[in-house]
Amino acid sequence: MERMGSPPQIRGTCMEMCPEGELLLRQREGLLHRFEIVEGSKGKRPLADPLKTVKCFARPAAGMPPAAPSDLRPKEVLLNTVKYLMNLCNDASNAWEVFEFVTDRLRAIRQEMTILRVPPEYCLILLQPMMRFHIVYGYILSNHSRYDNTLNLAHLNECLHKCLDCLEVCPSTCDICVQHILNIYVSMNLNNPESVIRIIDKMPNQKIDLKLLNCWSQKNFIRVFHLAAKLEVIPKIAIYSLLIKIRDECLKNICIGFNSVNSKFSIKRLACMFSYNTVEDVKKHLTRLGISFNEDFAFFNCKDLIQNPGSPVNYRWWAIDSEHCLKSPRDLLLGNFACDCHKS
Ligand SMILES: [Zn+2]
Repeated sequence: MERMGSPPQIRGTCMEMCPEGELLLRQREGLLHRFEIVEGSKGKRPLADPLKTVKCFARPAAGMPPAAPSDLRPKEVLLNTVKYLMNLCNDASNAWEVFEFVTDRLRAIRQEMTILRVPPEYCLILLQPMMRFHIVYGYILSNHSRYDNTLNLAHLNECLHKCLDCLEVCPSTCDICVQHILNIYVSMNLNNPESVIRIIDKMPNQKIDLKLLNCWSQKNFIRVFHLAAKLEVIPKIAIYSLLIKIRDECLKNICIGFNSVNSKFSIKRLACMFSYNTVEDVKKHLTRLGISFNEDFAFFNCKDLIQNPGSPVNYRWWAIDSEHCLKSPRDLLLGNFACDCHKS
């Protein structure tokens, strides 16, 4: 039902992933992506494959007339497009190219969701795979020279906050989806307990595991690492960027706490406490912080500490790398959960 006074709902009539006008224009101008062309069509003007071409993101220009219904895809087509894009995420060897392509096309879908005013319960189905995509590719590409974490995080937060807004107006959302979204939110915001409590208070019927949040608030970071390693794969990846930052604080605190010219601490034990992959990773980190060490021990002496060592190095984490689903993340992104929400 439409609210009084609100503009009439626009109905999209484009039944393909890309409106014909855009497809022909991009074909003519040579602006098709490698993923969108007819196999074998080469040269300066390759042909568009309508089954592979997906509408690009375009910034709305001021003063332009509103989009024509023939340029807008109904919500069911948007969902099929999301599924098509997630299906491209089946091969880790071209992760950067997939990431760039899918990120742009998902952004166009979100823009269209706003124009079409897609109902919140349907938005939740569209947004969850997008959220997982930005979490998973943020980890896969974290050491890629062209990867911009700030930009990826902006897309991820946009999806996450839209999901939370939808949950507020959809009290009958299935519990599995609600838990999934909240777990991601908690994982990403452990360092901001007030906002986590605020969100959780709005969902009084949900049982959220607050062990991690409590350990974080008590600065029991050894236990935080221990619990984080046992999370489900998506919240576990979501939490990892916070854990990397916290290792800096932990090592600095130990250095200050054990400060003495004679104090030494087992590197193996540090690797275990803060869940490093190898003792070599600990040594790289100690070097970055200016803490000296030999083969087996770190020497904690405050005067050596580098105060502003720059942003932390993004080491891989064994607890994530051991998840086989990351080699071909498609199924993880599509979300083969116990609920049926994503199967429609
Ligand atoms: Zn569900």
